[in-house]
Amino acid sequence: LSSRASGILSAFNILANKEVDGVYDGQWKGSGEVVESKCPTTGEVLAHVKTASPAEVSEALAKTREAYLHFRNVPAPRRGELLRQIREGLANKREELGALVTLEMGKIRTEGVGEVQEFIDICDYAVGLSRMMNGRVVASERPGHSILEVPNPLGVVAVLSAFNFPVAVYGWNLALSLTAGNGTLWKPSPSTCLTSIAVTSIIAEILKKNDLPGALAGLVTGGQPVGEALVGSSKVDLVSFTGSERVGRVVGQKVMSRFAKSILELGGNNASIVMPDADLSLAVPGVFFGAVGTAGQRCTSTRRLFLHRQIASEFLERLQKLYISLKPGDPLDSDTLLGPLHTAAAVGLYTDTIEHLRTINADILCGGKGYDVTPFNGGNFVQPTIAIPKSVDMTDSIWSTETFAPILNVAVFDELDEAIGWNNAVPQGLSSSLWTRDLRNVGTWTGPSGSDTGIVNVNAGTSGAEIGASFGGNKSTGWGRESGGDAWKQYVRWSACTINFSNEAPLAQGVNFST
Ligand code: NAD
Repeated sequence: LSSRASGILSAFNILANKEVDGVYDGQWKGSGEVVESKCPTTGEVLAHVKTASPAEVSEALAKTREAYLHFRNVPAPRRGELLRQIREGLANKREELGALVTLEMGKIRTEGVGEVQEFIDICDYAVGLSRMMNGRVVASERPGHSILEVPNPLGVVAVLSAFNFPVAVYGWNLALSLTAGNGTLWKPSPSTCLTSIAVTSIIAEILKKNDLPGALAGLVTGGQPVGEALVGSSKVDLVSFTGSERVGRVVGQKVMSRFAKSILELGGNNASIVMPDADLSLAVPGVFFGAVGTAGQRCTSTRRLFLHRQIASEFLERLQKLYISLKPGDPLDSDTLLGPLHTAAAVGLYTDTIEHLRTINADILCGGKGYDVTPFNGGNFVQPTIAIPKSVDMTDSIWSTETFAPILNVAVFDELDEAIGWNNAVPQGLSSSLWTRDLRNVGTWTGPSGSDTGIVNVNAGTSGAEIGASFGGNKSTGWGRESGGDAWKQYVRWSACTINFSNEAPLAQGVNFST
């Protein structure tokens, strides 16, 4: 293994190419299947991870429940103090953890570090939240009565996460879950186990320092069987799932069948619309980052671009210049903007989609293949692609399916309403953006006849959300919200408590039941 990779792993006491424990419930262990962690840039095997056996999943669940039973009685502001310490622990390892994300997931350095920063930010948010998770007092219609709406800790939260945000998504969930007084058990993507082990080890140290059980933030690495065990367990009160629509559909139904709670953060199929009055010096680089950033592997990546006829040619000319200037590089180098796809399977998906574009006679303006020269032979590098399909029927699979690769499909429109119609015509509803300087367009876009996605931007791209607002989508992107806003309200158990402090016991609605 390259010395640079070994150095990054050693910051978390992970020995390159050796076996490492992938389960934490207060103790490190792992006797299930052994999986490889592979570097997407070079194809090197970084380490072998011992994932959770079925018995270890049950044990971890029991321990996380036990930890919750203790932690739920710790006052919320003291839970906030724990979050403050976790924030410090993460900040101390910001660069090292960011580099590990880059090494294992493949995103470029600044984005790897950015993910860790997102976890730090949500911890800051949670510290404040710990003193503001307020219920409310409702006016009772009966004299001498009070009604309180009270948030209490919920129980055990299982976080199932995707490969593309191996730190931030867990961060959003853990910060709110801990602040709310819950125990959390994390099942990360099987291809980003090392990052989850590193994150868990940072948090475990802080729990230990505070005499709190490690299982409060437990870890069970593994694939589908481990995920299924968590989703099906009556010991899990909330399943927070981030991943594909295909798996999310199964997860959602299973959780619903046992009447537990779920948050589903599934695929996006995000559009940018550019109006003739848009400032192209903002819109062109905005669309470029949205479509090509993280090599098109964000749930919020721009996959559809709708250009007004008046600016379409100029826009595409300027955008293509940026695409052509892009060179694939080692994502660990600070000047690289384009890293590899995460897996060889993703390259296959990219190739199949390009093939499909060719069979439907789409114009491929640039890209459409791998690179002749790549920084490393074993890396999963592909050329970001701009294509113009002939059809603008959004029910065609080329438009209606999320392809998790840097392929941008373009269509030209004449009226804003037509473009909004296209934006809303696909099953997914995560993110969308409009580029305009006309206030009337902004009102239409953000109003009742506007975009139907969970994230609706103006003069800002589809990706790059901040933690302060709630994050999530509509329609087949799932339901529930994470991160800021009112998202914390899903991580608690709500009770409406009527308290009678009078000497009478009147019934509501004036019902008379006296004998
Ligand atoms: P995936 O659906 O393949 O896997 C997600 C997780 O589910 C993994 O941990 C996986 O091991 C687990 N899993 C697989 N089968 C399971 C089952 N039957 N029961 C329980 N768990 C199971 O997704 P991926 O390829 O890792 O990630 C890419 C997808 O995630 C894209 O569709 C992307 O849009 C989506 N995503 C969405 C958001 C969002 O916030 N909306 C954020 C990031 C990624």
